Amino acid sequence: MEDLALSLVKKRFGMEGGELLVGGVRAGALAEKYGTPCFVYDRRVFDEKLDALRTALPKRFRVAYSVKANPSQAILRHFISCDCGLEIASAGEFHQALQAGCNPRQILFAGPGKTVAELEVVLSNGIGEIHIESVTEAQRIGCICKRLGARANVAIRVNPACEAEGGAMRMGGRPTPFGVDEETLDEVLQLVLEDAALSFQGIHLFTGTQILDPKILVNQYRHGLGVARRVVSRTGRPLHRVDFGGGLGIPYFSHEHELDLTELRGALAAVFGEIESDPAFAGTEFMVEPGRFLAGEAGIYLARVNDIKISRGKKFLILDGGMNHHLAASGNLGQTIKRNYPMALLNKLHVPAEETVNVVGPLCTPLDTLARDVILPRAEIGDLFGIFQSGAYARAASPLGFLSHATPPEIWVDAGRDTLVTARGEFFGELPDNSHESTVK
Ligand SMILES: *Cc1c(COP(=O)(O)O)cnc(C)c1O
Repeated sequence: MEDLALSLVKKRFGMEGGELLVGGVRAGALAEKYGTPCFVYDRRVFDEKLDALRTALPKRFRVAYSVKANPSQAILRHFISCDCGLEIASAGEFHQALQAGCNPRQILFAGPGKTVAELEVVLSNGIGEIHIESVTEAQRIGCICKRLGARANVAIRVNPACEAEGGAMRMGGRPTPFGVDEETLDEVLQLVLEDAALSFQGIHLFTGTQILDPKILVNQYRHGLGVARRVVSRTGRPLHRVDFGGGLGIPYFSHEHELDLTELRGALAAVFGEIESDPAFAGTEFMVEPGRFLAGEAGIYLARVNDIKISRGKKFLILDGGMNHHLAASGNLGQTIKRNYPMALLNKLHVPAEETVNVVGPLCTPLDTLARDVILPRAEIGDLFGIFQSGAYARAASPLGFLSHATPPEIWVDAGRDTLVTARGEFFGELPDNSHESTVK
């Protein structure tokens, strides 16, 4: 077993007789009851992460969950019940949020390329706030509002002129399709302020994802406050909202360390303490909208070892699911270097690792490699394999239709009680009756 997997088992899940527990239930029991491959989620881990985040943030912060990380209904309902807002980036996510029972006023709509149809749907259903990403969008929202007789709460997403990196600022933000360049912010601000159908709420900044260094986050927030201050000096009134986006990371590989929330808490307390009585931020609500940080650690992908073979001296474990369900673990979702996710044989946690193997899925493509040269206990066909850190950007960011395998079900486990929240989906109905041609006589 890789070190990170073992530390996650200890820190978040626990084990019994060498077998992983998820929400107090043996992983093997879940696999038997619901079949493999599947995704399992432990409610307590969602709670731990949200509590830790809220503890690290200064008082005036509100947390929204970013739906694109994982739009599973159970997860949305959970965050809604914990008094989080939801950040969406499509009309589809808006429907999912409403279906989960979210008050539309608690939904923020961000993301480039919002279509007229999408904007109409959210505006006629009382969306809380839309984050404008271009001049076109500002005009479009204004037009739709006039047609619907509505007024929209809008914030402007700013693409900062300099990017926070490590301890230092790297000057010169890069070209990006996200947000409005800080250099042209005045132009869009003017448009918004002049349009009576638009109610200007504030700004939104979000520049990076998977950040594990608190210094980078704090620099981003500090810079965001600077941008906000300049906007306040233009408008002459405090902002209702400053949204710092998501981007808080979780460790995926053995060389990565968890985001130090104690350090983050101290640094944020200092930065936000300075502006405590600043009139520019009187009544301002600050916001973060993480996806990965809140959902990533709570989910595990379970699959079974379906075949084991040796090719020219290399041992391959072939699972019953692969990149079609978990593109990120195969290294094909944006990684430049392929590294192994934290993974383990879940029924052999107490067995010493002694074999170096490659782990692959069942797809007919060399892309479907989940691990290269991972050291695991000696595997047998039928062993239960688990990939950790699979609650965010795993199932939701995978090509589920590729090769037409069944889509993996999702199981929610809450303190010993497991519930099927998404059923397995097949790409075919009844097989056509070809019995006359059957080879089984
Ligand atoms: C994807 C996204 C997020 C969440 O990012 P994480 O890195 O998962 O925290 C938040 N806000 C917006 C606008 C996004 O597009």
